[in-house]
Amino acid sequence: MQITIVGAGVSGLSTGIRLLEQGYNVKIISKEFSPNTVSDVAAAWWYPFLVEPIEKTNKWSSESFNEFLRLKNEGLECITMRLGREYLEEKTDPPGWSKDIPHFRILESDEIIENYNFGWELEAPVIEMHLYMPWLLSKFKKLGGLIEINEFEKIEEVPGEMIVNCSGLGARTLSNDEEVIPVRGQVVYIKQDPGFGRYDQQPESLTYTIPRRDVTVLGGTAQIGDWDEKIRDKDNESILSKCELLWPELDRRNIIGTAVGLRPSRYELRLELELINGRKVIHNYGHGGAGVTLSWGCADEVAKIVKINM
Ligand SMILES: Cc1cc2nc3c(=O)[nH]c(=O)nc-3n(C[C@H](O)[C@H](O)[C@H](O)COP(=O)(O)OP(=O)(O)OC[C@H]3O[C@@H](n4cnc5c(N)ncnc54)[C@H](O)[C@@H]3O)c2cc1C
Repeated sequence: MQITIVGAGVSGLSTGIRLLEQGYNVKIISKEFSPNTVSDVAAAWWYPFLVEPIEKTNKWSSESFNEFLRLKNEGLECITMRLGREYLEEKTDPPGWSKDIPHFRILESDEIIENYNFGWELEAPVIEMHLYMPWLLSKFKKLGGLIEINEFEKIEEVPGEMIVNCSGLGARTLSNDEEVIPVRGQVVYIKQDPGFGRYDQQPESLTYTIPRRDVTVLGGTAQIGDWDEKIRDKDNESILSKCELLWPELDRRNIIGTAVGLRPSRYELRLELELINGRKVIHNYGHGGAGVTLSWGCADEVAKIVKINM
C-alpha cells in the first residue's frame, strides 16, 4: 500500500513516522519543507490552545504529552519539561486535560500577579522546533520514508493509493475548505530566562514567555484572517509591553530576533476519512494554535483510520 502525505509540517512528519512504523510505504510530497513551514515558527509549548472539538483534542493532546515525555526520556534533548504559570482574570474550572498530566496545581493567592485574580501552574514539554523539525524529517527518512517537493492545486491531483492531507492552511485551496483561516502569530526571541514560563492564554490578551534552553520565545498575537507575513514593529512593541507586565525583569537589550507565522485555524480541526473519486483521503489539518501539542495523538488517530480502511 502506497500512502502519500501532502505536507511536511509537524502534522505530516509525525503522521508519516507512525505510518512507516506500521509497515506502510509512505511518501511525503510538499511545497515546502523545514525550515519553511508554519511548524518551524511554533513557539512551542505543549498547551491545547485555540483548537476544537475539546472532547477529542484533550485526548489527542494528552497522548502527545506522553509521547513527548517518552522521547525526552529516551534522550531527545530538544524537548525539555518546564514549569509554567497561567494567570486568569476570574476563578475558572481547571481544563479537562489537567487530570492527565503529572503536575498541575492551582496557584496560591500570593502567587497571583497584579491585574489577575486566579491562576494555575503546570509542567509541560517545550519543543525547540528549529531542532525538532529536522529530527522528525531525519527519523522519517531513516525509517524508509520518501520525500518529494511539489505543489498541488487540488487534492484530486495527488498520486498514491491512499492520501493523507496534512496541508495546514493550504487545505483552504487544496480541499476548497473556506473554514480554514489564518490566525497570525508574531514572536520575539530574547536571550534571557524567566525561570518559569508565564502565560495569559486568552486570545484577546494573549501573552507568553516560553523558555527554551538558549532563548525565550515571547508572544503573542492571534490576528484572525490576517495574511500578512511581514514583521510589524507595532506588534513587537505590544508583545514586549504585555510580557513586561508578566515578567518585569525582562531586559529588552537581550532581544535577538523576531518571526511570524500563520496558524492554520478552523472552527474544529478536521480529522476524518473522505472518499474522493473512489480514493480514500484522510484529512488531518486545521490544528490552529496547537498543532505541535496535538501532533502525536492525531498521527495515531490517522494510523487507526488507515488500518481500518485497508
Ligand atoms: C507564532 C506561533 C506560535 C505557535 N505556538 C505553538 C505552541 O506553543 N504550541 C503548539 O502546539 N502550536 C503552536 N503553534 C501552532 C502550530 O505552529 C501549528 O498548529 C502547526 O504548525 C500546524 O502544523 P501543520 O503540519 O498542520 O501545518 P504546517 O506546518 O503549515 O505544514 C503544512 C505543510 O503543507 C504544505 N502544503 C500546503 N499546501 C500545499 C499544497 N497545495 N501542495 C503541497 N504542499 C502543500 C506546506 O508547504 C507545509 O509543508 C504556533 C503557531 C505560531 C504561528
